[in-house]
Amino acid sequence: MLVVMRSQATEEQVRDVCRKIESLGLRAHPIPGAQRTAIGITGNDGAVEPGSLEEMPGVGEVIRVSKPYKLVSRDIKPDNTVIKFPNSHVTIGGKDIVVMAGPCSIESREQAMIIGEIVSRAGGHFLRGGAYKPRTSPYSFQGLGEEGLKIMAEVRERFGLLIVTEAVDNESLDLVADYADMIQIGARNMQNFSLLKRAGRARKPVLLKRGMSATLEELLMAAEYVMSEGNYNVVLCERGVRTFADHTRNTLDLSLVPAVQRLSHLPILVDPSHGTGKRNKVLPMGRAAIAVGADGLIVEVHHDPDHALSDGPQSIVPAQFETLMCEIKQIAAVLQRGVVAPVNQAGSLLAAQASSLPAAAR
Ligand code: PEP
Ligand code: MN
Repeated sequence: MLVVMRSQATEEQVRDVCRKIESLGLRAHPIPGAQRTAIGITGNDGAVEPGSLEEMPGVGEVIRVSKPYKLVSRDIKPDNTVIKFPNSHVTIGGKDIVVMAGPCSIESREQAMIIGEIVSRAGGHFLRGGAYKPRTSPYSFQGLGEEGLKIMAEVRERFGLLIVTEAVDNESLDLVADYADMIQIGARNMQNFSLLKRAGRARKPVLLKRGMSATLEELLMAAEYVMSEGNYNVVLCERGVRTFADHTRNTLDLSLVPAVQRLSHLPILVDPSHGTGKRNKVLPMGRAAIAVGADGLIVEVHHDPDHALSDGPQSIVPAQFETLMCEIKQIAAVLQRGVVAPVNQAGSLLAAQASSLPAAAR
């Protein structure tokens, strides 16, 4: 059920309607839009009796939402969600393309500093990197844990990058929410419903990756889990799905981008690294992702991929990342979009900090 307020409705009227919904034992989700506020109602097993709400001052109409996802739907919010970050001009879902880049795993302080500098200099906005790694084999590198989060926080301080990193369980989610700017929920956890609910109670935006065999509706329902707990800052991510094709690690389903955009107001990114598993396919598919209308990329970059502790074969090298940044700027321009400079990229602050790096890290 969805209450659409009139465009002239006052904040007090919105509050009154929310109070009324809560008094019925339901949850109200006021979602302000460009024209008017809509209030999503969740917690109801069946249809809510619209009568009493329809008559309240400021209410335009009460609509039944027939789709299984409600808060995620464009029905509740016709305009795109734009996610902002405190003390940063970087946004996700607006006119500007966002680029998240970095190693698959945070391996050491030195490695993170080297790659952080590369990402920042080339114009990336986020350092990506796993401190908690969901690995197929229990004998593979599992990540540095909290130490990895501390290293990422240091990279943020030094290079002015935002940081995004994966939470794999409730314990790591709380730590990730403390250290990072954005909480990543990986493909393997897309339907870990208790983790999704926990992310929904966190105060940081969530990057939700598509499960490796998830349908569009399953992805949107996973986002609904996060939003139903009150966290409306969710970004979706296409990272490839399992198919019979064996020329790539996964099949990158770029048609998901316009399909999501038709149904949902949430931003969507593309991961051409996990989506292909092959370094030589990351740039072409990264370019295609921007051309198809994605709000940005998350891409694996490593200065020494042959010795990476995870996903070396799909990690692009620094020169390729620079090329990708140049190419996507040109493609973005065709679509009347842009790629903003990261905070410190052109500033003297970065230059001063970079020159203070130990020689081995430069
Ligand atoms: C990752 O981004 O490092 C990762 C593990 O991705 P996914 O969950 O898409 O496999
Ligand atoms: Mn990886």
